[in-house]
Amino acid sequence: MKQYMNFIGGEFVASGKTFENRAPVDNRVLGLVHEAGAAEVDAAVRAARAALNGEWGRMTVARRVELLHAVADEINRRFDDFLQAEMADTGKPHALASHVDIPRGAANFKVFADIVKKVPTESFEMATPDGGQALNYAVRSPVGVIGVVCPWNLPLLLMTWKVGPALACGNTVVVKPSEETPATATLLGEVMNAVGIPPGVYNVVHGFGPDSAGEFLTRHPGVNGITFTGETRTGEAIMAAAAKGVRPVSFELGGKNAGIVFADADFDQAVAGITRSAFENCGQVCLGTERVYVERPIFDRFVAALKARAEALKPGPSEEPGVGIGPLISQEHKQKVLSYYEKAVREGATVVTGGGEPAMKGPLAEGHWVQPTIWTGLPESAAVIREEIFGPCCHIAPFDTEEEAIALANATDYGLATTVWTQNLGRAHRVAKQVEVGICWINSWFLRDLRTAFGGAKASGIGREGGVHSLEFYTELRNVCVKL
Ligand code: NAD
Repeated sequence: MKQYMNFIGGEFVASGKTFENRAPVDNRVLGLVHEAGAAEVDAAVRAARAALNGEWGRMTVARRVELLHAVADEINRRFDDFLQAEMADTGKPHALASHVDIPRGAANFKVFADIVKKVPTESFEMATPDGGQALNYAVRSPVGVIGVVCPWNLPLLLMTWKVGPALACGNTVVVKPSEETPATATLLGEVMNAVGIPPGVYNVVHGFGPDSAGEFLTRHPGVNGITFTGETRTGEAIMAAAAKGVRPVSFELGGKNAGIVFADADFDQAVAGITRSAFENCGQVCLGTERVYVERPIFDRFVAALKARAEALKPGPSEEPGVGIGPLISQEHKQKVLSYYEKAVREGATVVTGGGEPAMKGPLAEGHWVQPTIWTGLPESAAVIREEIFGPCCHIAPFDTEEEAIALANATDYGLATTVWTQNLGRAHRVAKQVEVGICWINSWFLRDLRTAFGGAKASGIGREGGVHSLEFYTELRNVCVKL
């Protein structure tokens, strides 16, 4: 049976305790994951520290950049291995994994290596009180050992989004992938060895959160900074762990994102865009749209068109032709999503489509499938409008004015992303200025330029990563003041 081992100091390390990794499409056992205990986590942090004090710490930026390009090239060379691993772990459709997850996983190494190579630092000349002069200049140095705690929805993409810049800046990392998706992080260990990344620069510890690898890593005093993507509640626990030693955190957390569709939008584009933002990756995208607000004159037509699109999404395993939607990640998550489907009905929703489980045949009947679901008619206080569900579902409500749409979009504790659909240029800019989010898309969704800032407002995160913004977290900026 396949074994997913920890990767510590350039070696694959077993542990005495394993748990099963299961496939979301049919719940079959894919292999055994070696859970890291406190001792393995400590070994990984020590290996990361040793690498900082060794060859990696002394390496020129040019050589580091070259090696990170080699990592990206090797991921691309082994594209199919990564693709198969990601599809097995998540059950996501081939089109999505092959166009988004794996290419972005590779790109994350090149983009940040190039940014680090090119970005200058500041310098200021100043007059001194004695009539002389001084020169200030800034230098960036690595923060040290970075703990990287990852979710399961876009495993390789979101992990490399942090590991890429962390390594480009000269840090070393200990990664804790989600217990649901151990494969691609493990595979990346092979890539690191193949291209000659020194041992200890990239380490992986498997396991769960509380009282397991996640907690051991985030509490470890040898970790100098923690970057985390996941639920807001987990972020609170990690922030408490990071308080000890006043260690910096970068958080990309949950969302309850609004889509706003004005009557003047390109109707077909808006329907296609909201279809993606609500149902892509079976709704398991932090940027996804679970609250849709549509201007009243086109409300009924929009609901009907989105219903038709949702019903056309064929559920099935990753490589089956024509599949539009995969399963949820786990049985536990399926129960959570279905509990919201029931809650919506109890709260008085009109179920436009879905609301249950699709009938799947043969072994697929054991998988974690749910129907894409659309509701209307709920008050804004309803749980399915307030809480992040992280499933393929949305509630659609009508609005009458621009001000009302903005107020509805902002009436949430979260603040990750908004997608706005309108042909009116002035309105697009006005709305973008007023929505309380980290990312506002106009007539698009999930269109990402890796040089731009990414992160959430309010309960959706702390800090920004992306482009030069990643340098703020992954480096210490030191000012040197020289009296001339
Ligand atoms: P999660 O918070 O349950 O788990 C994320 C990771 O944290 C896992 O590796 C888990 O083992 C670990 N963990 C859990 N408890 C921990 C603890 N006490 N200490 C240390 N580590 C701990 O999140 P998930 O269910 O894997 O992912 C879905 C969530 O992630 C959603 O809320 C989604 O919105 C969010 N997300 C946000 C972004 C973003 O960019 N803002 C991107 C993707 C996902």
